[in-house]
Amino acid sequence: MAISKTNVPHRIYLTEDQMPTQWYNLRADMKEKPDPMINPGTGGPAVPEDLYPVFCTKLAQQELDDNTRFYDIPDEVLDIYKIYRPSPLCRAYSLEKALGTPAKIYYKFEGNNTSGSHKLNSAVAQAYYAKDQGLAGLTTETGAGQWGTAMAEACSYFGLDLNVYMVKVSYNQKPFRKTIMETFGAKVFASPSDTTNSGRASLAEDPDNGGSLGIAISEAVEVAVTTEGYRYVLGSVLNQVLLHQSIIGLESAKAFELIDTYPDIVIGCAGGGSNLGGLIAPFMRDKITGKANPRIIAVEPASCPSFTRGKYAYDFCDTAKTTPLAKMYTLGSGFKPSANHAGGLRYHGMSPILSKLYHDGYMEAKSVEQTAVFDAAVLFAKHETILPAPESSHAIRTAIDEALICKETGEEKTILFGLTGTGYFDMTAYAQYIDGSMTDHIPTDAELQPGFDSLPQLG
Ligand SMILES: *Cc1c(COP(=O)(O)O)cnc(C)c1O
Repeated sequence: MAISKTNVPHRIYLTEDQMPTQWYNLRADMKEKPDPMINPGTGGPAVPEDLYPVFCTKLAQQELDDNTRFYDIPDEVLDIYKIYRPSPLCRAYSLEKALGTPAKIYYKFEGNNTSGSHKLNSAVAQAYYAKDQGLAGLTTETGAGQWGTAMAEACSYFGLDLNVYMVKVSYNQKPFRKTIMETFGAKVFASPSDTTNSGRASLAEDPDNGGSLGIAISEAVEVAVTTEGYRYVLGSVLNQVLLHQSIIGLESAKAFELIDTYPDIVIGCAGGGSNLGGLIAPFMRDKITGKANPRIIAVEPASCPSFTRGKYAYDFCDTAKTTPLAKMYTLGSGFKPSANHAGGLRYHGMSPILSKLYHDGYMEAKSVEQTAVFDAAVLFAKHETILPAPESSHAIRTAIDEALICKETGEEKTILFGLTGTGYFDMTAYAQYIDGSMTDHIPTDAELQPGFDSLPQLG
C-alpha cells in the first residue's frame, strides 16, 4: 500500500475550497451498530426526547442518529472553522531522521488555535446549536482545561453564558487555564464545589476530594437541568462529538489524496475517544467497506486503562449516576485515577462507537506508561519544534515504537498519528519529568475492583 514518494512538503495544507463541508457519521457504515443508550428511568433505549432536558435539541438528535451518513456543517460553524482550519498534515522528516527509520511519519496537528487542541471543533458546533435554539447559556465540565477553554471561546463568539466545573486538582495546578476561560467570559468553579447538591455530597464524603471528571459532569448536568434556558455540553465520549471531530479525519484523508498516499497505520490517543474517532472516521469507513485495511491503534495511559483492562458494559457517564447509560469499555464511574497521573486522559469510560469497533476487532488498543510518554514528547519537541500536549504524546510514543519496528524490519510503512494539541499549560507535568520526580503507576487488579463494583446491575 505504501507508495514511495519524494518531495512531499513538510506541511500539506488544503485550500479553503478543499475543506470538507459535511461531517461524516461513522455509525451509518458500521455493520453492527453500537448498543443503544439506555434511559435508566424506563430501562429502555433512550429516545431524543429523553435527552432534551440535558442536551440541545439538534445535538440530542445527532446523538441517537445511527443512520444519516453525512451532516452539512452549518455555514456559521464553517465560518469559524475557517479562522483556524484547515489544520496541517505534517511530515515528521526530522523525527524520522533522528529515529533512523524507513517509515514515513505524518501527524495531523490540531493545536494551532487558542484553545490549543482539537476540542474547538466540537465546541463551536455545540455552541452554534445552542444559540440557534435560543438558549441563554451552557454548563460543562473540564479536566485539564482544554475543553473548558474551547467552550469559553465558542460561547463568547456566539454570545452565550458558560459555567465550567473544573476538576479541582487541575484548577489548582493550572491557574492560567482558568484565566483564559475567564478572559472569554466564562465562570469557572473548582469541582467538587459547594454550589450543587452533587458537589456538596462529594465534599461531605471527603472534604479533600481533588475531584474527577465524573463528579464535575454531575455538577454541570445538575445546574443545566435546574436553570431555565440552559443545557449541558460534553467534550468527548458522545456520538455527536465524534461526528463533529470527523473533520480531522476527512481533512487528513483529502490531504493524503493530494500526495497520492494512504496510511498503513493510524494512531491516536484515547481519553473519551473523540479525537481518535474523528481522525480514523474515513479510514475506518474504508476498513469496514473493504476498500483498504489500515491498522488502527488507540493509545491510553497505563494508569487509566479503559480499553485494555476495562469491562464492556453499560455504565453511567458520571459519578452521581444521573446520566443515561452507555455501553462502553469502562473502569466504572467510581474509578479514581492515581494521584501521580499527570498526562490527562483520565476518564473512566470510552466512546460507545469506538468501544463497539474495538470489541468487534476493527481496532487495536495499547497502554503506555507516562515516563515513556514524556520521553517521546521531549524527543518529538526537539525535532519537530512543537511542545506536544501530554495527551497527544501517548500517540507519539506509539508512532515512534511502530517506526522503530520498521527500522528493524526495513519496512517503509506510512504512519499517521493525531497530534491533538500543545502542552504549554502542562509545565507542571514537564517539570516533574525533567526533575525526575515523575513516576509510573499501573493499578493492580485490586485497585481497579472498586470501580468495577460501581457498575450498575441491569435487568
Ligand atoms: C481532551 C484531549 C484529548 C483526549 O480526549 P479525546 O476525547 O479522547 O480525544 C487528547 N488530547 C488533547 C490535547 C486533549 O485536549
